[in-house]
Amino acid sequence: MSDNRTTADCIVVGAGFGGMYLVHRLREAGYSVQGFDAAGDVGGTWYWNRYPGARCDIPSLLYSYSWSDKLRHNFRWSEKYATQPEILEYAQLVADTYDLRPFFRFSTRVESARYDEANCEWVVETDAAGTWRGKYLFLATGCLSVPNEPDFPGQDSFQGDSYQTSTWPHEGVDFSGKRVAVIGTGSSAIQSIPLIAEQAESVHVFQRTPNFSLPALNGPIPEEERQAFEAMYEDYRAALAAGEPGIEMLPEDWEPSDEELAEHVKILWNGGGLVSTVQIPRLTKDERINAAAAEFVRERIQDIVDDPDTARRLTPHGYPIATKRACVDTNYYQTYNLPHVHLVSLQEEPLVEITPQGVKTEAREYPVDAIVYALGFDAMTGALTRINPVGRNGLSLQDAWAEGPTSFLGTTVAGFPNLFTITGPFSPSVIQNVILSIEQHVDWIMEVLARAREAGSATIEITREAQQQWMDHAADEANQTLFPQAGSWYMGANIAGKPRVLMPYVGREYKQKLDANISEGFPGLVFS
Ligand code: NAP
Repeated sequence: MSDNRTTADCIVVGAGFGGMYLVHRLREAGYSVQGFDAAGDVGGTWYWNRYPGARCDIPSLLYSYSWSDKLRHNFRWSEKYATQPEILEYAQLVADTYDLRPFFRFSTRVESARYDEANCEWVVETDAAGTWRGKYLFLATGCLSVPNEPDFPGQDSFQGDSYQTSTWPHEGVDFSGKRVAVIGTGSSAIQSIPLIAEQAESVHVFQRTPNFSLPALNGPIPEEERQAFEAMYEDYRAALAAGEPGIEMLPEDWEPSDEELAEHVKILWNGGGLVSTVQIPRLTKDERINAAAAEFVRERIQDIVDDPDTARRLTPHGYPIATKRACVDTNYYQTYNLPHVHLVSLQEEPLVEITPQGVKTEAREYPVDAIVYALGFDAMTGALTRINPVGRNGLSLQDAWAEGPTSFLGTTVAGFPNLFTITGPFSPSVIQNVILSIEQHVDWIMEVLARAREAGSATIEITREAQQQWMDHAADEANQTLFPQAGSWYMGANIAGKPRVLMPYVGREYKQKLDANISEGFPGLVFS
């Protein structure tokens, strides 16, 4: 916007799917809004993660907003799992359709925020648009938006080209004739390695922890599937609104015999993608069920990978399947059968340093022309603690979260009035379709704002008691699962010094709890 305003009712950080829906709803409700995003345009994580093979791991037809029939009818997903360019195109269509861009300043990073208690408003500092004030501050900053930056000894001395999957060059990269090292074997690496291998002269993959990866069974969406989806869409949406999964599931108290279990876990290979893990009841709760599923996937890896030693090193052990987010791939394991693709286990030969020529482990040096760092993110809390809002009594979020994050429902934090997070810690966020998580949060927030407006409240704030109750409940739910057994980014374990706590809320019926909070008049929230 080219006016001289520096105030708005609502300040929104992030122009991904969270920020866009929020801005749309706030505008509709008549609030003045100013959004900011460090990126040059809308799209959030899909703006930055342009590495080869980047796709969603939720079926495209579901990886879409449910609130707009217009968008649904005007966009045609081409494949079961959409590519990053197509998802970005969808995000751009959202911005065009609802004329959202004028409410954002792009290429503008929010650097800090402080609550001005005297005036009951947030004061936000940006790097390119000065200081802004707003009654409400919304952090729609995404769960996977702050890269885990490479920090290897000697990395600046490397004479070849270095890339990060999370901030891939917009113009793309041609690896033809290049010797490439990929460090990391999470979803980003697992998606990109088969495509890098199609171009490169050689690929060395440096793996610290083997991952479980399931075949995507991707492909064009058949017309009959598209029509079937349209036919069931209203029912599906009604199911989601009622907090139901919207897909057919076995009952939660399913107690299969060993034979039934062995048969059912085959769904991991013929179901296509992560959805198949959801279709195994108590996969992340019941050791027996989990062990059968994990063993089935281990056997498939042995079947696919020709070289027994490579197969052994690729096979995950030591943590339950799906407690680190399972990956979804196209030809990942098959790629290791190519003669120019090599797996280096950093458990067997730890990485010592990056040299001017390549990657050096305790065993030898691997000369390469390019290094791709696929090291993941400071997930779920990283973007929030980087802004580090300072709330009541000068308490910063970093200090408030020194022992681990706190939140009520994943949407608001005690001591930080008028501040809301979209898909914050202790909400299902990344554990379910994140677009659905976003819609649930924005819809709840709009109800809260309506109540504040009706009551003429200057502040909205969660009590510490209500927050603690939610945290205790979230911890109870977490402790009934196998998630704490894995050193995952869900647990904050991928970032040195980050407190270990299961950040996504893994209880059932989260939507029902949000709805109950609304229907019971927002217990725990103080409107004053
Ligand atoms: P990630 O799953 O956290 O994987 C990072 C990888 O880097 C891991 O293999 C990790 O090893 C390794 N690593 C980190 N630091 C290292 C170090 N110092 N030395 C050696 N290896 C190191 O990150 P990601 O692949 O970007 O995926 C993150 C999440 O984003 C996914 O779980 C998913 O939710 C989402 N995502 C989804 C898709 C999709 O399929 N749609 C694609 C990309 C990302 P350790 O396991 O030992 O820590």
